[in-house]
Amino acid sequence: MKPPPFLYTRPSTIDTALELLAGSDDAKVIAGGQSLVPMLNFRLARPETLVDVGQLAELQTFEETDDVLVLGAALRQRTVETSAAALRTCPLLCQALRHVGHLQIRNRGTIGGSLAHADPAAELPAAALALDAELVAASKDGSRTIPAADFFLGPYTTALREDELLTQVRIPAHPGARTAFVEVARRAGDFAIAGVAVAAYYADDAPVIRDIRLSAIGVGATAVRLGTAETSLVGRELTATARAEAAHAAAADVEPQGDHYADASYKRELVATLLARALEEVSA
Ligand SMILES: Cc1cc2nc3c(=O)[nH]c(=O)nc-3n(C[C@H](O)[C@H](O)[C@H](O)COP(=O)(O)OP(=O)(O)OC[C@H]3O[C@@H](n4cnc5c(N)ncnc54)[C@H](O)[C@@H]3O)c2cc1C
Repeated sequence: MKPPPFLYTRPSTIDTALELLAGSDDAKVIAGGQSLVPMLNFRLARPETLVDVGQLAELQTFEETDDVLVLGAALRQRTVETSAAALRTCPLLCQALRHVGHLQIRNRGTIGGSLAHADPAAELPAAALALDAELVAASKDGSRTIPAADFFLGPYTTALREDELLTQVRIPAHPGARTAFVEVARRAGDFAIAGVAVAAYYADDAPVIRDIRLSAIGVGATAVRLGTAETSLVGRELTATARAEAAHAAAADVEPQGDHYADASYKRELVATLLARALEEVSA
């Protein structure tokens, strides 16, 4: 299929991009095009104007301080996955990115595009939730910072307004965290049936969990935190019993919908199994 006709624009500054978004009722941002182009081809999206931000230098920035990693929204997924700073500051991000599609897709796809697209089975939203990331959205009227917990509203739906551009992803540094990302997909490179992200923090003086963040994909309308499972682990060693109890809690934490790959009860069991595996990976 070919896309319907559209006007293509490639602004050279964020300000011009924001003017274009504000000036049209039916403009859409395009970055890597890895999700939007298939949607255009299938005529699931019919924007009048495309605003291409994929080459904007202002969205390719990479800033690391002791406290936070600030990533430009149009950084390519592969660039972040292979960055020494990202590996050092938030390895979970790189672990999640390794599961995103194929290398060719990560070479074109951007981190902001993946977050703005908000596929319920996408890996980056789960990493953003587990890492307490903040997303910076800009419009002609100014910019605002949205915590990841408030950003994902439903399948392919976020808190971004039509006239807003996602400009930055801010990830607090997580020194000392032990992290893992595990998932199951039908074939390598496919979207996951379900997946789990873990960031575990141990107490300084004992092998017990001081804090832990767990999130899952493919088992709800958006990526979700596994709150009951998290609570069940705080103050405990990650023994086989603790891991099994958390896995059981995780199955109750999610509300999966069946699809043509797996029914809801299979997904519930899968998320429990994946959590048990991920917790084993981060065990002291
Ligand atoms: C075969 C295949 C397999 C894939 N497998 C996976 C997978 O396993 N896991 C996974 O997570 N993804 C997967 N993807 C999707 C891929 O990760 C995309 O790169 C990503 O979803 C979108 O990033 P993009 O930069 O290509 O965005 P685009 O396709 O350009 O845009 C996607 C959406 O985000 C909006 N958008 C983009 N950038 C911004 C911005 N800065 N501000 C506001 N809105 C913005 C666009 O308007 C559009 O609605 C797959 C894609 C393909 C084609």
